[in-house]
Amino acid sequence: MSLPSINETASYNLKLPSGKTIKYRPYFVKEQKILLMAQETGKQDELLDAFKKITSNCTFGVVNVEKMPLFELEYLFLNIRCKSVGENVDINLVCKKCGQKEKIKVDLSKVSLPDYSKKPNKFMLTDKIGLMLRYPSIDDYNHLGISQPNNLTTRQILDLVPYCIENIFDEKQVYVADKDFNVTEAESFFSNATEKQITDIVQFFKEIPTLSHLIEYNCKGCNGAKKEFLLEGVMDFFV
Ligand SMILES: [Zn+2]
Repeated sequence: MSLPSINETASYNLKLPSGKTIKYRPYFVKEQKILLMAQETGKQDELLDAFKKITSNCTFGVVNVEKMPLFELEYLFLNIRCKSVGENVDINLVCKKCGQKEKIKVDLSKVSLPDYSKKPNKFMLTDKIGLMLRYPSIDDYNHLGISQPNNLTTRQILDLVPYCIENIFDEKQVYVADKDFNVTEAESFFSNATEKQITDIVQFFKEIPTLSHLIEYNCKGCNGAKKEFLLEGVMDFFV
C-alpha cells in the first residue's frame, strides 16, 4: 500500500537582494541526517558541503549551488532552516574579557544580507579590455582550500579571480567562461595585469557581502556590562 505523503506541498519564496526570487521547501528528516552527520565530524568543510546538498534538494533543483555566491547560499540555507526547525537558535558565546559562557537566543529571521544589487562587477583593465566578475561560490573556495572566506588575504584574492571571471571582453568580442576559455587560460590572462590595473578588482573581493547579525547582551561575569558580538557567515550561527 502506498502511504500518504507528509509535506508534499509546503513551499516558500525568498527574495534575494540581487532581485532573484527563489522557491524553497523546509528540509526533511532525510536532509536532517545529512546535517547531523556533517556536524558530528566537526569539520567546517563537511558542514558547508551539507548546506550545499540540503539547499540543492530544498530548492527543487533550480538553484545552481556550485556557482551561487557563498553568502546567498548561506542566506538561503538559514531561511530553509527557519522553516524546518524554527526561527530561534541558541548561540554559545564566551566573553572575551572574563571567559563567562552565555547562551543567547537569536532570531534567524532577523538575519539579513546587505544590498549588493548595485555593486559594479565590470572592470576595465585597459581602455579596451575588461572583465566581468561574479562573487565566489563554495566550490571556488574549496578549489583553493580557503576555509575562512570572511577575511580574504590579497594572495587568496589573486588566486580566486580566475575562478570568478564570468567573461572577458575587448571592443570586438565577449569571451565567456567555461565556453571560450578555461580556468588555466583565465589564470594566464589575469597574471599579465599590473597591480594598478587590478586595484578595483581586489577591492571587489575585499567587500564581499556577508550574513551578519549583531548580538548585544549583558555579561554576568563583568558585573552586567554591555557586550557586543558580531556574527558573520553561516558558521557563526552554528556555535
Ligand atoms: Zn564578561
